[in-house]
Amino acid sequence: MQHQGILAVISGFSGAGKGTVMKALLEQYDSYALSVSATTREPRPGEANGREYFFVSEQEFTSMIEKGDLIEYARYVNHYYGTPKAYVESMLAEGKDVLLEIEIQGALKVKQQFPEALLVFIVPPSAAELKNRLLSRGTESEDVIEKRLSRAAEEAEGMSSYDYILVNDTVEDCTARLHGLIQSQHYKTSANQKLIAQMEQELKELTAKPKEI
Ligand code: 5GP
Repeated sequence: MQHQGILAVISGFSGAGKGTVMKALLEQYDSYALSVSATTREPRPGEANGREYFFVSEQEFTSMIEKGDLIEYARYVNHYYGTPKAYVESMLAEGKDVLLEIEIQGALKVKQQFPEALLVFIVPPSAAELKNRLLSRGTESEDVIEKRLSRAAEEAEGMSSYDYILVNDTVEDCTARLHGLIQSQHYKTSANQKLIAQMEQELKELTAKPKEI
C-alpha cells in the first residue's frame, strides 16, 4: 500500500548543525526529499542556486507570495525565506518523507496547515558551543553573529511548541535519532487510516454469513 510521506519540520538555532544533520540523513537514506526554500539573502561562498536555496530578489519573492506559491514564509535577520508549495505536495504524494529546514515562525504556520507535521527542534549541547560553531564557520560578520545569537535567545522561548527536542552532540547520533523519530510517525494511527479501513472491510467479508441458496 502506498503511504503518504511524513512532513518533518526541522528547526534549530543558526549554528546548531541542523544543516549537517539534514545532509547526513539525505546521504544515508533515499526515502527523504529536502525542500529547497526561496530566500532574498545573498548566497554564501559555496552555495549554489537551486541547491541550498533559490536565491531571488525581493520583487520575485513578493510575486511568489501573491501567486500563492509558498506554504509559508518569514522574515529572518533582514531577509525573507519561504517554502515552495508544489515540490512539497508532490513529494508527499509520492510517499517521500519531506524535510523542511525552517525557522520557528514558519514551522508554526506549517503546523496550522498540516496538523500531522512532525516538528523537531535541534539544539547544540550548550549556548557556548553554539557561539563557537558560529565563529568557526567563519562565513558571517561579527555583527550578523550577534544578531543570530539574539535571535536564538528569542527562539528558545518557542521551543516548547515543538513535538521533540534533539541535542546535536555528534552528527552521527543526532542523525540516527532523527531518522528513528521520523520513521516512527509512519506507525501512527492517523497515518494508517487506509490500512484500518481495509482491515475492517476484510474482516467483515471473512465473517459474513454465507448466503443461503
Ligand atoms: P540561513 O541564512 O542560515 O541559511 O537560514 C536562516 C534561517 O532561515 C534558518 O533558521 C533556516 O532554518 C531558516 N529558513 C530557511 N528556509 C526557510 C523557509 O523556507 N521558511 C522559513 N520560515 N525559514 C527558513
